[in-house]
Amino acid sequence: MKNIAKIVLKPGKEKNLLKKHPWIFSGALQRDPPRHTPGMVVSVFSATGEFLAYGNYSHESQIRIRIISDQLNDFPDDAFIDTKIQAAIALRKQLLSEPLPSAYRLINAESDGLPGLIVDHYDTWLVCQFLTAGMEFFRDAIIQSLSTHYPNHSIYERSDASSRQKEGLEEKIGVIKGETPTAPILITEGNAKYWVDLVDGHKTGFYLDQRTNREMIMGLSQNKNVLNCFSYTGGFGIAAGLGGAKRVLNIDSSEPAVALGEKNAKENQLNQVHFEKADVFAFLRRQTDAPLFDLIILDPPKFANSTSQINPAARGYKDINRLAMKALKPNSFLVTFSCSGHIEEALFKKIIMSAAEEAQREVHFLRTLQQSPDHPVVSFFPESHYLKGFLLYVR
Ligand code: SAH
Repeated sequence: MKNIAKIVLKPGKEKNLLKKHPWIFSGALQRDPPRHTPGMVVSVFSATGEFLAYGNYSHESQIRIRIISDQLNDFPDDAFIDTKIQAAIALRKQLLSEPLPSAYRLINAESDGLPGLIVDHYDTWLVCQFLTAGMEFFRDAIIQSLSTHYPNHSIYERSDASSRQKEGLEEKIGVIKGETPTAPILITEGNAKYWVDLVDGHKTGFYLDQRTNREMIMGLSQNKNVLNCFSYTGGFGIAAGLGGAKRVLNIDSSEPAVALGEKNAKENQLNQVHFEKADVFAFLRRQTDAPLFDLIILDPPKFANSTSQINPAARGYKDINRLAMKALKPNSFLVTFSCSGHIEEALFKKIIMSAAEEAQREVHFLRTLQQSPDHPVVSFFPESHYLKGFLLYVR
C-alpha cells in the first residue's frame, strides 16, 4: 500500500460506494486526515477494514472524496490518468462518424472516470474545465496527456464555473498551451457552420450536448415556421434554417448571444433566420392572436439549482410549455427540454402533461431526448442524466 492518508468510513457508509457511486460526503468519514493538501489521493476503507477505493480528498467540499479507482492494484498516478484520457478519446472515435464534427465533448467528468474534468474539442482547440481540487491535483498529468494525444492543438482553460467555489478554488481562465482564441472561432457540424466564443461564451463556448438534437431539428423543419426560444447563438435555429424552414425566429435575452447568432445566420447564408433580443416568457405571453408557429423549441436555462427549487422550477417549466402549446398551430411540433439535474425525466413528463391539460391541447409524446452521446449517462451516476427532452406532437 502506498504511503497515503487512509480514510475510514462510518459503519454502513460504504453502501453507495459499493454501487460505484463516486461521491463520499463529509458525514460518511469517521475522521478527516490530520494533514491534507487540496485534491490529494487517499485510500478509503470500510469500518470493518476492507479496502474500498482510491479517491481525491477535498477538505473544502461537502463532497469530501471523489472516487477515481476502486481497484487496489490500480493506483491513480499519472499513467492511470493517461489511460482514462485515452479511453475517453477512443470512445469518441467510435461514437462520432467521419467526417468528425469539429466540436464535441472529449472528456465528460464522472462519465469518463475523471470526476470534475471537462475537456471539449473545438477545431484546433481543447477547452478544459478543472472543476474539483482532485482534477487540479492531476492538472500537470492531464495537460501532459492531452498534449501528447493532441500535439498540434492549443489548450485553453475555462475554469470559471461556480462549482469551483465549493471546492475552495478560484476562477482560472487563460491559455495553457499554444494560441489565445482572441476572436470567435468557426466550427462545422455537418453542413452547419457556427461561430463560437471560447473566451466569453456560455460553458466552454457552445451547447455541445444538443448536437444530436440539432440534427433532429434539421430533419423536422422543412417548410415550417419555427420559433426557437432561449436560442443562445442560434444552434437550433441555424439547423432549422438549413433543414428548409420557411422562417425561423430566435429569441434570447442576451445581447452578445443574439449578435453571434446573427453572424451565424449570415455565415450559413440563411436570410429567413432572424433573431430578437427578448424575454421568452413575455414574448410568449404576447402571442394571443391566432397561433403562428409549426415548430417551437424550448431550451431554457437550468430552473432548479437545488432540490429546494424543484417546485418553483416545475411551475416555470409548466408555464412556458403551456404558453408554447398555445402559440402552436393545430398539428404542430414542440421540442422541449429541461437541463435541471434535479428534475427527473418522469417529473418532466408529468409537467408537460399538466401543461397540455391547461392549454387544452392533445399532446403526443413522439420521442424522448437526452444529451448527445459524447456526454454519456452512466448507470451508477444518475446525476449524469441532466438533460431531458421530448419531441411532442401538439394537436
Ligand atoms: N438552446 C441553446 C442553449 C440555451 S441556454 C443552444 O442550443 O445553444 C439558455 C439561454 O437562455 C441562454 O442563452 C440565456 O441567455 C437565455 N435566457 C435565460 N433566461 C431567458 C429569458 N427569460 N428569456 C430569454 N432568454 C433567456
